[in-house]
Amino acid sequence: MLEITGKSVFGGVAIGPVKIYRKQENVVKRSKVDDVEAEVTRFDAAKDTAKQQLSALHDKALKEVGETNAAIFEAHRMFLEDPGYLDSVYNIIRTQSVNAEVAVATTGDNYAEMLAAMDDDYMKARSADVRDVSNRVISVLQGNAGDGSLGDEPVILLADDLAPSETVQLDKSKVLSFVTRHGSTNSHTAILARTMGIPAIIGADFAEDIDGKPGIVDGALGKLFIDPDEETLQKYTKQKAELDEKKRLLQELKGKENVTKDGRKINLYANIGGVGDVAEVLENDAGGIGLFRSEFLYLKKDDYPTEEEQFEAYRKVAQMMAGKKVIIRTLDIGADKQADYFHLDHEDNPAMGFRAIRICLKRPEIFKTQLRAIFRASYYGNIAIMYPMIISVDEVKRIKEIVAEVKGELDAANIPYGDVEQGIMVETPAAVIMSEELAQEVDFFSIGTNDLTQYTLACDRQNAAVEDFADTHHPAVLRSIETTIKNGHKGGAWVGICGELGADTSLTETFLRMGVDELSVSPSRILSVRDAIRKVDLSK
Ligand code: PEP
Ligand code: MG
Repeated sequence: MLEITGKSVFGGVAIGPVKIYRKQENVVKRSKVDDVEAEVTRFDAAKDTAKQQLSALHDKALKEVGETNAAIFEAHRMFLEDPGYLDSVYNIIRTQSVNAEVAVATTGDNYAEMLAAMDDDYMKARSADVRDVSNRVISVLQGNAGDGSLGDEPVILLADDLAPSETVQLDKSKVLSFVTRHGSTNSHTAILARTMGIPAIIGADFAEDIDGKPGIVDGALGKLFIDPDEETLQKYTKQKAELDEKKRLLQELKGKENVTKDGRKINLYANIGGVGDVAEVLENDAGGIGLFRSEFLYLKKDDYPTEEEQFEAYRKVAQMMAGKKVIIRTLDIGADKQADYFHLDHEDNPAMGFRAIRICLKRPEIFKTQLRAIFRASYYGNIAIMYPMIISVDEVKRIKEIVAEVKGELDAANIPYGDVEQGIMVETPAAVIMSEELAQEVDFFSIGTNDLTQYTLACDRQNAAVEDFADTHHPAVLRSIETTIKNGHKGGAWVGICGELGADTSLTETFLRMGVDELSVSPSRILSVRDAIRKVDLSK
């Protein structure tokens, strides 16, 4: 058995023969033509066929891999409408009396060289495109299929890397896994593998002589086994059957309600760190966003993000979620999340230090910029705001004053905004103890179990030495959650959980019995939690 290690792009197990993908090379031979006009007509017909292929590829890519990946085929099609490109081909056929293949190859090479010599990076990159499209026309002229057919049996596809035009043409039902020598975790092949949900590895150094041999891919470990021994085969056959069953079950749950056997429905939302995570949220069928960790907008930058930058991010998320709730948590910087430009002093105990709402209340100009951006974006969707690290009713009252100021400024400037629910994170023991009073001030609570566990158990979440003491199922943590839910309801607030514990399916029934109204978990956990909710019967 041969074991090849690369880098994991997407987890899962694939078992099947390996096939090394070889690029189709067109050999162009020069020949004299007597009837140049007939040759021009032959080229025109081939060009039209190539354009039809590109339109079909564009539509296929749009469905399978989205707008950005599909755009490349539009660009290719446009080359075949470029008067300069076409005139060059016609001219070569007519003046040199040569076959269309030679005219296209020569034009393609000339254009590619010209583009490659340009200063502009974008134009440089088009050089590969003009070669690709010229190759396509030559394939049509020569009658080469180029349809990406892989034979009858599904295979583990091995390649140097694959161009978008190659991956889109592949018959996806015949690809069990992608393994490439090159490419990055964001390469086209990697994105495609994730979209298809099949295991994939990059950076795998394989030899050509393994073509056709039996193989196994362990996507999570980034391993490819060639000629697997009996023990490995058995192990992975079992693992694959379990994963397939889980996948099937979870896919079945898409579009289903988050409802217990006895009819209690709750909201199941997703946690995100930025606009880039929304696709996964929608893909996993979350009902909304229960925690948008807005600090990631700040952490990505070298200076404070402007109101406009923030507005754009919040508006995009709200619009992509199309009316579903998006709860934006205001800046939670400090402690484990630092940005130099805030110039925060070094602290011996940052977890208990100057962070989150404390910074916002002490530096209201930062806070107000964010609030203005959020309120402006609220006009474009269903946005709610929540505030992190709250410990007192006074803080909430102060926040409300600042919010009122911001709304007043927007009103004065005639800037529209929507109805925005206001909530707080309950993630300090103080907030739990004060939850009855706090509930009267807000529309909702979201329990941050990560910090609540840290503060309740006095176990720094950054300190590996105390990890064994940080028991998230500790009765003190669970009792705090119960108290918060009970007091929240008493004060008229709905209560959710957005810390990691919300995704712990061994506690789903417990939370439902406590009366939780919402769970917000990472996108990949949505369907498992839905499965757990649907198995609960609260009447028993
Ligand atoms: C939490 O504390 O549980 C939480 C959700 O917030 P963060 O993990 O971002 O501190
Ligand atoms: Mg927290």
